[in-house]
Amino acid sequence: MDNPMSAATAAVDCSGAAAVDAQLAADLRTPLRPDAFALSDEAKIDAIAGHFREIMHVLGLDLTDDSLNGTPRRVAKMYVQEWFRGLNPQHRPDVRLFENRYQYQQMLVERDITLFSCCEHHFVPIIGKAHVAYLPGEHVVGLSKLNRVVQYYARRPQVQERLTRQIAEELKNALHTDNVAVLIEADHLCVMSRGVNDTSSSTLTAEYGGVFGQDQALRQEFLRLIGK
Ligand SMILES: [Zn+2]
Repeated sequence: MDNPMSAATAAVDCSGAAAVDAQLAADLRTPLRPDAFALSDEAKIDAIAGHFREIMHVLGLDLTDDSLNGTPRRVAKMYVQEWFRGLNPQHRPDVRLFENRYQYQQMLVERDITLFSCCEHHFVPIIGKAHVAYLPGEHVVGLSKLNRVVQYYARRPQVQERLTRQIAEELKNALHTDNVAVLIEADHLCVMSRGVNDTSSSTLTAEYGGVFGQDQALRQEFLRLIGK
């Protein structure tokens, strides 16, 4: 017999998607439906594989061919488990702070963070680097957490402007300071491989919070440290 308590808990978990990105201002949230996580990852992979098989079929590809046969499921797994894993709030990194015992007061820069995202308008890759800085106050953060925050928001269908602001906002909240800078430089495969077919341009976006927005010398120092 079903336990009514656990059924109630499960219902809460399923509708928990309404709280996705609740840590961000409403205009910075990735547009997700409230039932975004009603399906399990396995069910999503099955459904996407079926739809992708249909796309390949419509294109005229012979899905009985050995080389093509496993593609729908490979693509589906890649979408759910890798490219778009940052949609699922279960994968949101837990950013723990440490007491700033060394009284380190200067800017801390984590530069050249590998960035792999996906353009939400064309579903092709965005490849680049993120540079992140903050001014420590009472607390510091484990360095790899900065990479993990970048990855969490990158692994979604994205536009670079929103991605930049999502990362900055998350770091401001997590580090309890507005003194955060984020700069992203990225190549968009939708610009490179179609449309204007430009393979040499890249896109830079930046968000300067707190003192970074007010102090031009500090901003210049940040840009110098990341080689800009
Ligand atoms: Zn695009």
